[in-house]
Amino acid sequence: MKIGVLDIQGSVDEHIISLKKLGVHVVRVKKPEDLEGLKGLIIPGGESTTIGKLLKRFGLGEEIAKKVQDGMAIWGTCAGAILLANQVIGGEVDGLNLIDAKVQRNAYGRQIDSFETKIEFANTKIPAVFIRAPKILNVGDGVEILSKLDGEIVAAKKDKIVISTFHPELTDSTVFHQWFLELCEQ
Ligand code: GLN
Repeated sequence: MKIGVLDIQGSVDEHIISLKKLGVHVVRVKKPEDLEGLKGLIIPGGESTTIGKLLKRFGLGEEIAKKVQDGMAIWGTCAGAILLANQVIGGEVDGLNLIDAKVQRNAYGRQIDSFETKIEFANTKIPAVFIRAPKILNVGDGVEILSKLDGEIVAAKKDKIVISTFHPELTDSTVFHQWFLELCEQ
C-alpha cells in the first residue's frame, strides 16, 4: 500500500518514520503527479497559512480534493487539520474545505503553552503532543468524534477524512498511524 506525506513544510520526516515502522511504501508529495496511486495522504503539522499558500501555488489543493472524492483517505495533523476544516477562526487560511468542522487556530496559547499528554483513542491510551494546537470547536452532522481531551474534541473523522489537533508522529506510538492505514485499506 502506498501512502503519501505532503512535503511542503512541517513535521514531514516524523510522519515518514512512523509510517516506515509500519512497513508501508511512503512517498513524499510535492507535486500533483506524486498523488498517483496513493491510498492515503497525511498533511503534517507546521504553519497552516504557509502550507495553504504553497498548496495553491503548486496546484496541489485541487488535485488533493479530487483524489479524496475518488476515495483516497486523508489525515491532517494540527496545521493539517486546519487545512482540512471548512471553518477557520484566527487567520486567513487557503484550506481544502474537506470536512465540516470549525477550528480555532492557536487556541491553547503560544509556543510555551505546548504540552504532551495522554488521550483516549481507539480504546487505548496514546501519547499526544500539542504544539500551538488548534481547537475543534464543533463538527457538523455526520462527523464522528474520535477523541476528546478535557471535554474538547481533539480528533474527528467523516468517511475517510480525518483531523487531529495533536501530533502522534512526535511520539513513539504508532497506534494512530496503524488505525489510519486500516482506514486507507477500506
Ligand atoms: N499554529 C499552527 C497553525 O495555526 C499549527 C501548529 C502545528 O501544526 N503544530 O497553523
